Amino acid sequence: MSKRTKIPQHCSFCGKPASQTDRLFSGYESFICNECVELCHDLLETEPRAGSSDVISEIPPPAEIKNFLDNYIIGQEQTKKTVSVAVYNHYKRINHQLKVKQSGRPRAHDDVELEKSNILLVGPTGTGKTLIARTLAKFLKVPFTLADATVLTEAGYVGEDVENILVRLYQASDFSAQQTERGIIYVDEIDKISRRDGNPSITRDVSGEGVQQGLLKILEGTVANIPPKGGRKHPEQSFVSIDTSNILFICGGAFDGLDKIIAKRIGKNTVGFDSVKRFVDSESDDILDHTQPGDLIEYGIIPEMVGRLPVVSSLRKLDEKALLNILTKPRNALIKQYERMLELDGAKLKFEKGALKAIVELAQKRKTGARALRSILEKTMLDIMYDIPSQSEIAEVIVTAKTVTKGAPPKTRTHAETKKAG
Ligand code: ADP
Repeated sequence: MSKRTKIPQHCSFCGKPASQTDRLFSGYESFICNECVELCHDLLETEPRAGSSDVISEIPPPAEIKNFLDNYIIGQEQTKKTVSVAVYNHYKRINHQLKVKQSGRPRAHDDVELEKSNILLVGPTGTGKTLIARTLAKFLKVPFTLADATVLTEAGYVGEDVENILVRLYQASDFSAQQTERGIIYVDEIDKISRRDGNPSITRDVSGEGVQQGLLKILEGTVANIPPKGGRKHPEQSFVSIDTSNILFICGGAFDGLDKIIAKRIGKNTVGFDSVKRFVDSESDDILDHTQPGDLIEYGIIPEMVGRLPVVSSLRKLDEKALLNILTKPRNALIKQYERMLELDGAKLKFEKGALKAIVELAQKRKTGARALRSILEKTMLDIMYDIPSQSEIAEVIVTAKTVTKGAPPKTRTHAETKKAG
């Protein structure tokens, strides 16, 4: 028997046996399956060739970044400003590094090392943390992915799961390692993986700390070998190396109880309870604005992680006015979207003031920030969206407070009635 026929028939790239592939092509003492051919084809199409420039040619100044955020995010002025500056500095730093590398000049002895500044957003649920991160990525045209820190805890396979975040970012960047390496990752619910006891020296919540350690590695910057399609790693698989040093991490969490830690510290260090009460009561001054690294450590975030999240910004709870604005003002506001959808069916959609107020009031009761607006509106609009497409005589639909609170039918006007009314 010749040597060639002894080769076990499996893909030499991903290791799949012939029985598990649609096609297996043979080469000289090796095979490749149809899936790996497709993957290589995608890589050839999307990966810039080695040596091509990957500098983001123009980084918009912070004011321009904030202007863009203003189109989508209501309020949260300080946070929008802070992240605009941080993100500008982040990409300026990457550009600087790449230019030095490409120029081939050795770095001057006195060259200041610019460190990566990952961001921590602290604030109640549904106040725009994820939206800010997502909108930033959209503006900068960099890949974006979202990770839920609590899922990492549940799975238990810490290393593998943390790397899966990178797989998702890689997939979001159309399988370009180069794009992945300058993407943005939003890690939600970072507060939920805190150690139960903030004191590093006493008994710890090991699972939370384990996940933090896993995250820390990719936050700090490491070269991770990821399976391009995700899933479990196995020895015959081909891996893609992703250097995480330039990936921007934005972590977010509600940090319930952090206010008390800060209040205790302020109370201890300054003039006592009255000053704490002033912070808590004042609308313009939020106690979370006074977050310091020590408070986060006491909360249960490991000190190394706190060190890697030097930019901290707090988001405000959304009041009635903000919720109303969220319904109507952003470029992709929910009300605007529904208006457009009905317009496509030839009807004009209007909301009475009382209807908007009712939506906001219901949302406030749910205590999930702006998150509740969508579900309330979806429920309110269901019958209308169901009926209108088959009622071509309707020219105007007016949603009232009762439509929102009691499911009463909206007011309608036919084309003939609107014509008559002039
Ligand atoms: P979280 O702070 O929990 O990350 P999200 O950013 O996911 O909250 O917000 C949930 C939804 O609520 C968003 O998709 C958006 O529609 C809306 N939303 C929340 N905050 C704002 C805001 N400040 N401006 C505009 N929309 C907002």
